[in-house]
Amino acid sequence: MKPLEKENIFDIQKIRSDFPILKRKVNGYPLVYLDNAASSQKPQVVIDAIVDYYSNYNANIHRGVHALSQEATDAYERSRNKIQKHLNAAKPYEIIFTSGTTHSINLVANGFTTLLKTGDEIIVSALEHHSNIVPWQMLCERTGAVLKVIPMNETGELVLEAYEKMLSDKTKLVFCNHISNALGTINPINQIIQKAHEAGAAVLIDGAQACAHLKPDVQVLDVDFYVASAHKMCGPTGVGLLYGKEKWLRKLPPYQGGGEMIAEVTFEKTTYADLPHKFEAGTPNICGDIVFGTAIDYLNQIGFDKIAAYENSLLETATRKLLEIEGLRIYGTSKQKTSVISFNLEGIHPYDVGTILDQLGIAVRTGHHCTQPIMDYYKIPGTVRASFSFYNTFEEIDRLVEAVKKAKQMLQ
Ligand SMILES: *Cc1c(COP(=O)(O)O)cnc(C)c1O
Repeated sequence: MKPLEKENIFDIQKIRSDFPILKRKVNGYPLVYLDNAASSQKPQVVIDAIVDYYSNYNANIHRGVHALSQEATDAYERSRNKIQKHLNAAKPYEIIFTSGTTHSINLVANGFTTLLKTGDEIIVSALEHHSNIVPWQMLCERTGAVLKVIPMNETGELVLEAYEKMLSDKTKLVFCNHISNALGTINPINQIIQKAHEAGAAVLIDGAQACAHLKPDVQVLDVDFYVASAHKMCGPTGVGLLYGKEKWLRKLPPYQGGGEMIAEVTFEKTTYADLPHKFEAGTPNICGDIVFGTAIDYLNQIGFDKIAAYENSLLETATRKLLEIEGLRIYGTSKQKTSVISFNLEGIHPYDVGTILDQLGIAVRTGHHCTQPIMDYYKIPGTVRASFSFYNTFEEIDRLVEAVKKAKQMLQ
């Protein structure tokens, strides 16, 4: 039985018509795109905004007195204001444009080089994406700080008791994702942030996965840094955000040197520009940064409450139907979960399942999802990951389930 009333949360056919790519066929079948945790598709308004920029007001920003440069600069700063409002940051200059989550994390990790010393401790979670592990390992190598890991349990939840025991006056930083891209776990970041602050540590939350599904409030969270990528939020690739509390952004040194990030340059000494330009060296992805704002407007027009309700209902339905397949195991069964399902068929390699699904026009991801430590925990090489967005349908879930059954028959 389909949860009909939930299907009517919004006009799904209208929403689907916003995304030109969803009309595509793949291998002779209508595309079923279930790789949203890797990157989302783009609505026509976002595609149009890219064309509009290059067709009508393409120019370098901040430096020009001419009209086009002013228009581009205004649009660029308007986009920053949209992001500020979206995250409820206190100041527009607490939003730094970056090339994505990875860049944002590296910017912060690099900045902390001068703020840490040997014996200081950094805590990450066992559920992290490689991009939220490797930069901290590099930071530890540079500074002599020690990396500690909050363990996870069988359901894919973090063990908070262990975390609390790890915290001490040596802890300087805590890093955790808001939502795990591999398992879909929504982490209890409120508690993680609060406990870290009680120990005097700063917190960076990786919102790359979360921002597609919910609207974080950085002031309510009282988080020190929050990062995300536009391409998982219906926006373009190569664009991301770093939110930082003003006091932290002032403390951190610049990441890259170049144009736009300086106040004054002589060969003897250079002084840095004020926030946010201190962290935005060189010509940024002007078009992408502007269109990030368009994507955020689009998501807000649909409404995150509706998105969450609809995606939850997709998650429940898909979980129930997939579990009816004998020998199928779902990894990540946290009570607080978003619309990501990682699974394997007993005795069958995830890559083989993914290949058959692709032949049937269904896009899923297979492998370790840049989270090898999670795979090691479960002692598996990887999983098949189906991740749902608000433009997916209940019919597509049926196609997925049928295709998985077929793959099982063919591969067993
Ligand atoms: C996608 C993702 C990243 C990396 O984002 P990029 O856009 O590749 O920089 C980091 N963390 C999580 C949780 C992700 O889902």
